[in-house]
Amino acid sequence: MYWEKEVETMDRSKLEAAQLVALQDTLIKAEKSYYYGKTFQEKGIGVSSVKSLLDITKFPFTTKDDLREHWPYGFTAVPKDELVRMHSSSGTTGRATVVFHTAKDIAVWTNLLARCLYMAGMRKGDIFQNMMTYGLFTGGLGFHYGAEKIGALVIPAGAGNSKRQIQLMRDFTTTAVHVIPSYALHLSTVFDELKLDPRKDTSVKIAFLGAEPHTEKMRKKIEEIYGYKAFNSYGLSEMNGPGVAFECPYQEGMHIWEDSFLVEIIDSKTLQPVPDGEEGELVMTSLQKEGMPLIRYRTKDLTRIIPEPCACGRTHRRIERIKGRSDDMLILKGVNIFPMQIEKKLMDIPGVGTNFLIILTREGYNDDMTVKVEVGKQYFSGDLKQLEKLKKKIIEELKGEILITPKVELVEPDSIPKGEGKAVRVIDNRKE
Ligand code: AMP
Ligand code: ZN
Repeated sequence: MYWEKEVETMDRSKLEAAQLVALQDTLIKAEKSYYYGKTFQEKGIGVSSVKSLLDITKFPFTTKDDLREHWPYGFTAVPKDELVRMHSSSGTTGRATVVFHTAKDIAVWTNLLARCLYMAGMRKGDIFQNMMTYGLFTGGLGFHYGAEKIGALVIPAGAGNSKRQIQLMRDFTTTAVHVIPSYALHLSTVFDELKLDPRKDTSVKIAFLGAEPHTEKMRKKIEEIYGYKAFNSYGLSEMNGPGVAFECPYQEGMHIWEDSFLVEIIDSKTLQPVPDGEEGELVMTSLQKEGMPLIRYRTKDLTRIIPEPCACGRTHRRIERIKGRSDDMLILKGVNIFPMQIEKKLMDIPGVGTNFLIILTREGYNDDMTVKVEVGKQYFSGDLKQLEKLKKKIIEELKGEILITPKVELVEPDSIPKGEGKAVRVIDNRKE
C-alpha cells in the first residue's frame, strides 16, 4: 500500500524535525546561488537565522518575476557541470522560467512520483500510457521516470494525435494513463467518432489528471465516460513538476510531500500566513533540491490545508483541489498563458491599437481562445486584403508566443468596452 512506509507515515514530530534539518541544509545550499547569496547578505539572514520551522518567515518570498529577472543561471546553486537536466514552465517561450536539476534532484523527483503512482494503485505489470508533452514541460519526463521506477511498462505516447492514442491504448492494453483533463474530454469525442466505447473497448483502470485546474464535477464526468478511477495530480516546474501533491485512494485532497517541501498558506493581500484550514496562496520551500533550491516560492495557486489526518495513514498533510490563482495566469489546454505575453506581442505589431480582449470558450469538449484586437480604422475601408494579412500575422505571432493557435477577431478602434479602472483582459466563458 505504501511505496516508502516509513517516510509516508512518519510521526509528525519526527517529520518536522527532519524538515528543520533539511531546511537548514537547503539554506546553506541556496546561499551559493547568485540570487540568494545577494539577498541573504543584503538582509543579514542565513542559516543561522533558523532555529525552528517558524523562522522561515524571516525570509523574503521568491516570485516568478525574480526567476525571470535572474534568467538563466541566477538561481543555480551548484557548478554548471553538476547540472544534468533543464526544464521550463509550460507554454512560455523566450525568457521562460527555467529550472535545473542535478542527478540527485532527478533521483529524488523520480522517487516522489513513484510514491504518488504507487499510492494511487499503479504497480509493476501495469501498462502506462503517458499522454503528456515530452520535452521542456515537466509532465512527460517526470511521470515517465516515476512509472519506470515502479516497474510499469511505459508507453511514451506524448500529447495529441488522438486516433493513435486510442490505437495504442487498444493494441497494447494500456491499464493506466496520464492526461490533461480537458484532453481526456476531447479524446472521448474521438472514441465516439470511431464508434468505440472507452468503458468496453479499453482496459484502462487508473488515470492521473494534472497540469490544469479542474473541478470535482469534471473528474466525475471523466470517470463516468471512461469507467476508470481518476486521481488529481498537482505540481509546478519550480518544485520539479508533477509529484508535489497527489491524491490517495480516499481522494479527499492531495497529500503534499512534506519531506520534500515546506508548505505555507498565506493571505495574498497581506502576505501573512493564515491558520491551517483557511484558504490562501500556497507558498513552498524546497527541502531536497540542490541544483536550484527555492525559498518561499509564491505559487499563486489558491488552496487550503486540510488539517485532519487522512484515513490512509499517511501523515503528510493534504491540500484541497486548487481553486484558482491569485494572479491573472490562465491555463488553456494545459498551457500557462499570461495576458501580458499577448499584450507584449500585440503591441509590437504595426497597425494594432491599444485595446484587446481574450475570450475563452468551451464548445462541447473543446476549449478555445479568441483574441479580439482593435486595429486602425484604415483597415476597414476599401480593400480588405490588408485586414486579412494583418490577422494572419497576429495569429502567427501569438502562436509563436503562447504555443496555441488562437482565433483572432479584428475590430475597429474603441469597439471593445472599456471599464473604469483596470482593463478587463480576459473573459472566461468555459463552463462545466
Ligand atoms: P508548470 O510550471 O508549467 O508545470 O505549471 C504549473 C501550474 O499548473 C501550477 O502552478 C498550477 O497553476 C497548474 N496546475 C498543475 N497541476 C494542477 C492541478 N492538478 N490542478 C490545478 N492546477 C494545476
Ligand atoms: Zn490519504
